[in-house]
Amino acid sequence: MIEISFEINGKKTNPNNIKESLEASILQSYSESIKESIGTLRCNKHNKVPKILVKGKNLDNLSLEISGCCDDIVKKATDKFN
Ligand SMILES: [Zn+2]
Repeated sequence: MIEISFEINGKKTNPNNIKESLEASILQSYSESIKESIGTLRCNKHNKVPKILVKGKNLDNLSLEISGCCDDIVKKATDKFN
């Protein structure tokens, strides 16, 4: 399973721990769509999954940062979003 983390306005955020239910559901649906896009992606060389960081000043300004074991997996994951 890919790792998805959230950082909103500089703070690490876990959708499961958000009291605000609207915010939690936005982040959860975000994370679902990421999983649908690259859920099965895995590096052939290192057998590792990419890490996704969703960050932004607020929920209307989220962007993705993709990292992984090598450039190859980062590129593959990035391609999935284009
Ligand atoms: Zn790799």
